[in-house]
Amino acid sequence: MEKRALLYEGKAKKLYLTDDENLVISEFKDDLTAFNGEKKSSEAGKGALNNKISTELFKLLESHGIQTHFVKMLDDNHMLHKKASVILIEVIVRNIATGSLSRNLGIEDGKVLPFTLVEFDYKNDALGDPKINDQHALILGLVEYQDELDKMRRVARQINDILKPYFAEKGLKLVDFKLEFGKDKEGNIILVDEISPDNCRFWDIESGEKMDKDRFRQGLGGLKVAYEEVLNRILGKK
Ligand code: 5GP
Repeated sequence: MEKRALLYEGKAKKLYLTDDENLVISEFKDDLTAFNGEKKSSEAGKGALNNKISTELFKLLESHGIQTHFVKMLDDNHMLHKKASVILIEVIVRNIATGSLSRNLGIEDGKVLPFTLVEFDYKNDALGDPKINDQHALILGLVEYQDELDKMRRVARQINDILKPYFAEKGLKLVDFKLEFGKDKEGNIILVDEISPDNCRFWDIESGEKMDKDRFRQGLGGLKVAYEEVLNRILGKK
């Protein structure tokens, strides 16, 4: 499968057309951004690590019956996947309070939530990805029907039920993560984007160390080593 014209360049990936109109290729970039693009950097090898981590996690989710856009990993930085029209909602799943939840609502950082929280953010850089509820999503026309929001929330919880124990077994707490969904050509809502330490928070169960993009966001250093460690644990090389 060959890369054709560049369709879109995002902050972390470039999207290319292929010779099959139903399939596209994502190129995982080494670029890092935070705080709505205000903080920028690049870390050689980060894109390849995220491609490999996402590949393993998409395969895991597919094996549990979750529909995703994943087709196959082509090489270090490229993933072949189904074309889908992206729904402009970031679905945030949280097991432990930290980040914007602690900042916005004053919930103690590190507090285990009494139940898994699922939130929606409007995927809109110019507005700073504001938090929205179901009515906002419908008024904005981000989806047509309430059912679609219910499905995204249900699948997000299913994904958490798969990933949380999976990572616990590998010595990592799945603190929170961001998912994106899209509609394939048949109109099915499927999981798209990536699942990687760029959009998940992982804390080492023993040391409490942050093993995700917060190393960059908080200027802690050691981002690549942490991402490599996450991949090694996924691959059972711990
Ligand atoms: P928070 O709202 O606390 O900043 O983020 C919650 C979770 O969603 C974190 O795991 C974070 O990585 C992810 N997340 C939220 N918004 C974005 C985003 O715009 N880009 C990326 N890569 N991750 C996000």
